[in-house]
Formats: sequence, structure tokens, C-alpha cells
Amino acid sequence: MSKEEFVKATENLKKAVPLMMKNKVAPTPANYALWYTYVDEVNPELNAELNTILDNYGECPPSQVKSMYKRHIARQAETDINELRASVELMVSELKSSMTDTLKDTNDFSETISNSFSELERIDKENLSFDEVMLVVRDLVKNSREIRHSTCFLNNQLTSASDEISRLKEQLAKVQQDALFDCLSNLYNRRAFDSDIKALCEGKQPMSLVLLDIDHFKNFNDEFGHLLGDMVIKAIAKRLNTACRDGINAYRFGGEEFALVIPNKSLRIARQFAESLRRSIEKLVLKDRRSGNTVNNITASFGVSEFQETDSPDSLIARADRLLYEAKQLGRNRVMPL
Ligand code: GH3
Ligand code: MG
Ligand code: MG
Repeated sequence: MSKEEFVKATENLKKAVPLMMKNKVAPTPANYALWYTYVDEVNPELNAELNTILDNYGECPPSQVKSMYKRHIARQAETDINELRASVELMVSELKSSMTDTLKDTNDFSETISNSFSELERIDKENLSFDEVMLVVRDLVKNSREIRHSTCFLNNQLTSASDEISRLKEQLAKVQQDALFDCLSNLYNRRAFDSDIKALCEGKQPMSLVLLDIDHFKNFNDEFGHLLGDMVIKAIAKRLNTACRDGINAYRFGGEEFALVIPNKSLRIARQFAESLRRSIEKLVLKDRRSGNTVNNITASFGVSEFQETDSPDSLIARADRLLYEAKQLGRNRVMPL
């Protein structure tokens, strides 16, 4: 981050915070990110959307924030983390140069003092006139004022810089904690899954859940190495991602396990959807350029459950998980229930 960008970021901060207060928006990292982007005016779509919401509601309801955050900001989480990190680094380097300045000024000061001492000695030795003595004294007073001013300035700068650093560090920790994406698969992560499934269950949202687990995945790692294992995960994630339309979301649930949330669809439809994914994964062919190995035996097993009025996230997941286990028992590469 350049100095100009840093100054701009500070300006945005000064604009965003009062706006958030005015619109009664809670100061959460997600909200902050959203309003920061709003005042930054880099995303016209986001600005238009937020303006419409403000026109309609007079404020910004939390539910709207969540969806806007996901659509406009969350994908950027990784970049934002890097930007925050750069801010912290910039502050640290500014602090370092302040320290160097202080040191230099201190050295200058001790030089001035020793010069002044020799001047004072001159007063004694050379019997200077009153005016000449006053000149020496005036110089001394001026120098000591300057040094006091500079020390004061640096002191303030150091205090505000270290405050800023702690604030940025806190924010960095929070952003990292709030990240919703898995960087290997580029899908939503488990944290996003847990939060989404909880909200959907609480809202009694009709939906179906698909859990899938790659078959004999350990063999890919063992036979061709961990990197190829990662390639298999990425390839499957890509298939899942392209299948995400009509509000369907894909998540990396665990190591080689994935989840899909399919809103407003019955078990029968979700099952068909899983079946088409199963067939698409079965067709995957991966070529490992380093070793020249070709992998074309990638398959996955699926368990599908449909939300019932009385379901908690745990009960909904447990049903899909049990069916996934059955699919494994029955020989893998299949969708359950039949
Ligand atoms: P099953 O058909 O019963 O699911 O067999 P499996 O080999 O797929 O299942 P198992 O649970 O025995 O092994 C899963 C392996 O996935 C173990 C772990 O080392 C590996 N794994 C988990 N996360 C990652 C990852 O991010 N990258 C790679 N390369 N391997 C991973
Ligand atoms: Mg597994
Ligand atoms: Mg597995």
C-alpha cells in the first residue's frame, strides 16, 4: 500500500464511521467493510443497491447487510487480509523512521548543547558584552524550544502510530477469523456453512442438503502425492462451483468432504441434482504434468436430506451423513437415498 492509498484509506474511515452511526449500523467488521467500500465508490452496483435499501428502509437492516456482504465483499476477503497486513507493515515502517528521526534530533541536540557550552566558556574567557551574552542565551533558548517541539511532535506521532497498529492488528485478527472462504477449493468454508445452515434452519427455509465425500481419496495421496490430492479437491470444487445456480451454495465441509445447500428444492430434485454431479465427477480426467500420471478414477459418494420443520442443523446434517455412510457401504460412487 502506497502512502497515498494509506491517506485515502484513512479518509474513507473518517467518512464511513459517521455514516454507519447515522444509519444505526452495528460496527461489525462485515458492516465496516461494506460501508468502507460504499464511501470508496469503487463498486457502483453496491452503492446503487445500498442507496435503494436506505431509500426503502430509512436504515440498513442486518439481513440485507449479510447478503450484500457475501455478494460484494466476502470474495475479496483474501485481498483485504493482505491489504490490512500491508497497513500494519506500513505503520511499523513509519514508526521505525520516526524512531530514526528522534535519534537524529537527540544527536543534534547533544551537539547543540556542547556547542552552547563552548559558547558559555567563551563568555567567561573573553569577557563578552551584555549584548553578546544575550545573543548566546537567545540561541540556546531557541534551540531548546525547537528540540522540545520536535520531541513533543515525535512523542505524539509515536503514540498515535502505536494505537493505530494495535487497532489494525485487532482488525486483521478479526478479518482472518471472519473469512468465509477456503483458499484451496475457492468454495465457502466450514464457518460459512455452519452460519448459513443455522440461519436457514432458524428461518424454517425449505431446502435440501447434499453431503459428498471423495471415494478412496487417501489412495490418490498415497499413490501420487499430496499435491495431486489437492488437484483432485480443486477439480471437484470447480465442478461444484459451476453447478451452483438458483441460490445453490457449495461449501468445503472438511478435508475431502463437501456440502451443497439447495434452497426450495425437495429431496427428489436434490437427489437428481446430486446424481448429475456424481456423473460429472466420474468423468473427470486429471493429468499430473510433473509425473506424467493420468488420474481418471475419481468418484464420490453422496447423502441427501430434506429439511423438516423440527430439524436443527445437527439433525439435518446427521441424516445426510448417515446416508452418505450407507452409500460408502454399498460400494461407493452412488447417491443415497435411492
Ligand atoms: P472413503 O472412500 O471411505 O471416503 O476413503 P478415503 O480414503 O477418502 O477416506 P479417509 O477419511 O480414510 O481419508 C481422507 C484423506 O484425506 C485423509 C487425509 O490425509 C486427506 N486429506 C484431507 N484434507 C486434505 C487436503 O486438503 N489435501 C490432501 N491432499 N489430502 C487431504
Ligand atoms: Mg472423509
Ligand atoms: Mg473419502
